[in-house]
Amino acid sequence: MSKRPRLGWLGGTFDPIHCGHLDVARAAHTALALGTVRLVPTRVPPHRSAAHAPPKHRWAMVTLAAQAHDWLGVSDDELQADGPSYTIHTLNRLEEQGMDLGGLHVITGADAFATILDWKDATQLIDRCHFVVVSRPGHQAQALRQTLPMLATRMLDAKSYVEASTPSIFLVDTPTAPVSSTEIRNRVAAGQSLDGLVPEAIATYIDTHGLYRGEA
Ligand code: ATP
Ligand code: MG
Repeated sequence: MSKRPRLGWLGGTFDPIHCGHLDVARAAHTALALGTVRLVPTRVPPHRSAAHAPPKHRWAMVTLAAQAHDWLGVSDDELQADGPSYTIHTLNRLEEQGMDLGGLHVITGADAFATILDWKDATQLIDRCHFVVVSRPGHQAQALRQTLPMLATRMLDAKSYVEASTPSIFLVDTPTAPVSSTEIRNRVAAGQSLDGLVPEAIATYIDTHGLYRGEA
């Protein structure tokens, strides 16, 4: 067995972090026997409008959420970098810092991975590290074999996991909370409860700092 550290890397706007994100992180951690999963808030989402809460609040919330689990960590790598957060630039930075990318597992939801071919330098990207793709309600991971047939040969069922020597795309189909950050922001703006949708500490943080109240 290789002793290579096995790191999970879950990027996102986390505007705010919610129970669905934690389910994705947990599913990847369990399915691939990862050591740690780092939550990595992006600075400026490449294909999206600016975030709703400023970076310092999004960072504070992922930090709070990670404190509750010893297998979860955070990284401010993308918040500290210049310009938009492109995964290929992240890999370059991690490699410059001496990381062995062979142990890196970039985690995404199946909705996000469906757009992979539009990501900057996509072909190079999937040749440099493993991906772990977790289903999201309405988006099965296994369905990606049909929607991305050109990548199907490197898609592996995470259930039959064996340490892969070449960069692979591990598919994990498991229930995750049917919630999105958009729904959370809308609920706050409408004065509705966040019970069961975000960890309690996050609901308290959003309330204390008056985040998302003027959204709608
Ligand atoms: P928004 O509504 O603002 O787009 P979001 O809930 O989609 O927010 P992001 O920060 O955009 O959250 O997502 C970060 C990553 O987490 C993406 O790869 C996304 O696919 C995944 N993800 C988010 N929520 C879920 C969920 N409920 N189940 C599975 N994957 C999820
Ligand atoms: Mg999203």
